[in-house]
Amino acid sequence: MTSPARRTADARLDGVITAAFGRHYEVEIQHSGDAGNGETAPLKCYPRGKKSVFACGDEVEVTPTGSAQGVIEQLRPRRNLLWRSDAFREKLIAANLTQVILVVATEPGFSDMLISRCIAAAESQQIKTLIVLNKADLQQQLPMARTQLAPFERLGYPVLELSAREGADALRPKLAGERSILVGQSGMGKSTLTNALVPAARAATREISEALNSGKHTTTFARLYPIDNGWLIDSPGLQAFGLAHLGADELAESFVEFHPYLGKCRFRDCQHEAEPGCALRAAIGAGAIDPRRFEHYRQIRDEIAVAKRQTQGW
Ligand code: GDP
Ligand code: ZN
Repeated sequence: MTSPARRTADARLDGVITAAFGRHYEVEIQHSGDAGNGETAPLKCYPRGKKSVFACGDEVEVTPTGSAQGVIEQLRPRRNLLWRSDAFREKLIAANLTQVILVVATEPGFSDMLISRCIAAAESQQIKTLIVLNKADLQQQLPMARTQLAPFERLGYPVLELSAREGADALRPKLAGERSILVGQSGMGKSTLTNALVPAARAATREISEALNSGKHTTTFARLYPIDNGWLIDSPGLQAFGLAHLGADELAESFVEFHPYLGKCRFRDCQHEAEPGCALRAAIGAGAIDPRRFEHYRQIRDEIAVAKRQTQGW
């Protein structure tokens, strides 16, 4: 069923950014409040201003300038924004999310440091995280992977085991009504999952494969697909998830298990290293905080400090 597109002042249309190519964007015009039905072709849009940067999932007002083109007039307020950064670059990943789905797999191995990074990025934007353990059919490595994920599960981050090859549908109930992004190192099975769940993604893969004259599809930019009353963003592999934009307090707060101890150290500017009366270190000693998670926190904190010095040219 097609309903008339929602109109705003001056024949502007409401839309959602479904792909960001740097200078131009694809915008799916919204029908009756959803992210489009995926059946109408998106508009190729340019921003009106010079220096405007948008992300997949951004809600925008667009003025059509032709049958398949438009100008982005305005950005609607973002509920949140997932991004990564180092000292010199910032990259918007996606906006207006309700859920980050972090895909790891039994094979090849994965980095639990990357899990902590990803969770910190999501927590700092009040986005929930779901961990998917893919390739559960490869049973030999399954116990290892489970052991690696157990500390995160204990913190309340749900872990869903599945095989994208044999039963990607297990993820479907978790997508309904949500605005999700799939992230993870390459090789974890994100494309396999997306292709199994989203018919439009399969079509895109085929087009790219034909264009490159190869059967292999590599995601090089994020793309948003409407799905089950929400949408799903398939993003390129994230090998590094820099958090240089986070402040020191913000980072500590994004480690949920630190919450009861923050502000309880004897010294207000405690670095949680060797200071007497450090509540965090006491909690580690008492077994209330996993030392590995604290190590992740320290690494990210030190990396942020280095990035700040680089930015300031020290
Ligand atoms: P991406 O880089 O995260 O998009 O990963 P791909 O979807 O390209 O998958 C990487 C490799 O893992 C491919 O060879 C897939 O066929 C394979 N793969 C994906 N899902 C599964 C699974 O559930 N079981 C097994 N055994 N292999 C899988
Ligand atoms: Zn301390």
